[in-house]
Amino acid sequence: MRRRAVVIGGSLGGLFAAGFLQELGWQVDVYERVADELAARGAGIGTHGALFDALRRLGVEIDDRLGIRVTERICLDGNGNTVHTKRVDQVMSHWARVYRALKERIGPGHYHAGRNFSGFTEQGAEVIAGFDDGSEARADLLIGADGLRSSVRAQLIPDAEPRYAGYVAWRGLVKDGELPDGLRKSLGDGYYFVLPPGEMMLCYLVPGRDWNYVWYRPTTE
Ligand SMILES: Cc1cc2nc3c(=O)[nH]c(=O)nc-3n(C[C@H](O)[C@H](O)[C@H](O)COP(=O)(O)OP(=O)(O)OC[C@H]3O[C@@H](n4cnc5c(N)ncnc54)[C@H](O)[C@@H]3O)c2cc1C
Repeated sequence: MRRRAVVIGGSLGGLFAAGFLQELGWQVDVYERVADELAARGAGIGTHGALFDALRRLGVEIDDRLGIRVTERICLDGNGNTVHTKRVDQVMSHWARVYRALKERIGPGHYHAGRNFSGFTEQGAEVIAGFDDGSEARADLLIGADGLRSSVRAQLIPDAEPRYAGYVAWRGLVKDGELPDGLRKSLGDGYYFVLPPGEMMLCYLVPGRDWNYVWYRPTTE
């Protein structure tokens, strides 16, 4: 009989775990508490070689649709003057592109949205995942990929608490076409940084020609 796995959390971590288990011949079901399409919540995400290797191993085709290639990082001062440049070749993607590619691979019958995991029990060699709606899923393996405030981890290691890193990030997307003409031309396809003391702002283009911006700022919890 095929071995069965239940993955709690249908974001990138859960989808990668599910994909690799499927590759190994497991029957895998992913349970995600958010009922609507997660892709709508994502913004820009930088890629790197390890991500491409993992995607390729899962048979995901890597082509120009995955992201926008940037070749230079440009650091600006507070007045918008360039203070430093560095050649770095990187593809900037959209979280939704990576997510959709992985989710498609899992297959719709194995991705269960709107299912909030509430706890697990063990019965012999089986693990039984319970959900808020009273339903259950039985498997040989349970994977907790349910993020920073993981309910799976809370049951296994009740004392583990996330530690505040000391800063928050604001991020958003602006349509390239909504920028003033002059600004759009001067930005080109660059990857920009501004580094006020103790802070970092960055922006880059993602597929769909949206500018992804993030502002990291220290603040109390
Ligand atoms: C919707 C979304 C959009 C994101 N967009 C970006 C982005 O644009 N750029 C970027 O750099 N990073 C983004 N991130 C962050 C980044 O992808 C991840 O935080 C990081 O890669 C770690 O992934 P993860 O799968 O371990 O955890 P997470 O991405 O945090 O995923 C955990 C998942 O588990 C689900 N979950 C939690 N509790 C339960 C439960 N009890 N039962 C069932 N499911 C549960 C959550 O809803 C979530 O989907 C995003 C994350 C999410 C969830």
